[in-house]
Amino acid sequence: MLRRQELVCQQVVELVSDYLEDALSPRDRRRFERHLAICPHCTVYLAQMHETLRLTGRLVPEDLAPEVADEFTEIFRRWSAERNGPGDRPPP
Ligand SMILES: [Zn+2]
Repeated sequence: MLRRQELVCQQVVELVSDYLEDALSPRDRRRFERHLAICPHCTVYLAQMHETLRLTGRLVPEDLAPEVADEFTEIFRRWSAERNGPGDRPPP
C-alpha cells in the first residue's frame, strides 16, 4: 500500500511547468514548495525553468536531459546578454 510521501525530484520536474503556470492545487503547491526547501537540485532546476519561461515565453520539453537544459539556459543567457549588452548598436 502506498503511504503519503513527500514529492521526489522526478515529480517536481513533472510539476514544474504547472507550478510556473500557477496550475497546481494549493495542496500540490505546498508539497512542491516543501520539496524545494530541502532540495537544492530542484531549486536550481526551477530557477532555470523560470528563466527559460521568462526569456522565451514557453518551457522546454520536460524530457530534456539536465546537461542539455544547462546548455539551453547558457545559450539564452548569452542571447540575452547580447541583446541587452553594453554594445549599443544604432537601429538599422
Ligand atoms: Zn528534488
